[in-house]
Amino acid sequence: MSESWIRPTSEIVSHSLLLRTTRNCPWGLCKFCECYKKKEFEYRSVDEIKHDIDMAREILDQIKILTKKLGKSRVDVELSRLYNKPSTELGQDELENLYSSRIVFNWYCSGARSVFLQDADSLTMHTDDLIEVLEYLKQTFPSINRISTYTRARTLVEGKTLGDLKDLHEAGLSRCHVGLESGDDQVLKRINKGINSVGHIIGGRKAKKACLELAEYVMPGICGRDRLEEHAKRTALVLNKIRPNFIMFRPYVPRKNTPLFEEYKKGNFQLTSPHERLRELKILINDLDTKTRVCFDQPVMNSWYTSPDHNQHLFKWDPEGYKFPDEKEKILKLIKKGLTLDESAHIHAKDLIKQHF
Ligand code: SF4
Repeated sequence: MSESWIRPTSEIVSHSLLLRTTRNCPWGLCKFCECYKKKEFEYRSVDEIKHDIDMAREILDQIKILTKKLGKSRVDVELSRLYNKPSTELGQDELENLYSSRIVFNWYCSGARSVFLQDADSLTMHTDDLIEVLEYLKQTFPSINRISTYTRARTLVEGKTLGDLKDLHEAGLSRCHVGLESGDDQVLKRINKGINSVGHIIGGRKAKKACLELAEYVMPGICGRDRLEEHAKRTALVLNKIRPNFIMFRPYVPRKNTPLFEEYKKGNFQLTSPHERLRELKILINDLDTKTRVCFDQPVMNSWYTSPDHNQHLFKWDPEGYKFPDEKEKILKLIKKGLTLDESAHIHAKDLIKQHF
């Protein structure tokens, strides 16, 4: 079972089962990223992963028996007092058991349909090994109808052939989540993404050609103040070429202990204001010309609101987002509304650092 919480919002909403196929990130050098820091990347053996799948099966069977006997709500309560002591007093093993049982219980309650493979890049696994895992997973849980993973564009370009990706899709892999961040090569270089815009296009198109669903993550504000327009225009251009199924906006907020945070503190990286970020979005959305879903599904970082009390987000934050191009005008109207409000109606990224990170 998983010891890591990191997964896309869509997988949180679907209560996906979390299965760790690798540990940490094989790249680990993006300057804005604090995930898996200082932890070495490791492959897990197929046997180890299959053991986790078997454990999930066992927990699920127990939960099914208990639910029949007690009902879902009682099982929910019983799980919360599994060890009869506060979580602060739980040992590591107890915490992991509790965490795994809770994940499987929520997964069961939501129909046991979707699985998310962790950590940062499952496609670095040998294709045959990953196929074996996917097949075992589907065979153990026939109810599964979606298996997703994070991967890097560079892995899609260099690590997998089109045939590999098609085989993985055939074995059950449905969706890949990829961090594009920006389509501007200068920005990609500055944040040390390890790939340029052409690489992103080749990798994204390859995944699409293999019939994999694709979610591309974009970071408003990662351009700093000096590349706003280029970043917005080139990101739209790259997205138009990739034609992903989902575009997820994750505005940039500096995280402590990252190289870009240090640059920001020294004054070498200028954060854009909420209005500047809306202007960036306006350029990007105006230039976007593809059939996709545009999502603002991370509520903390998408810190634009409809009034100064910050009660209502400007953009809805469900993972299905806005249908594009049908709702293009709707998004543009919302951007216009956000720009007409005083900037204090929104939260600046520098204040989010203090509040959350
Ligand atoms: S590839 Fe992803 S997880 Fe790895 S360093 Fe970059 S942003 Fe972080």
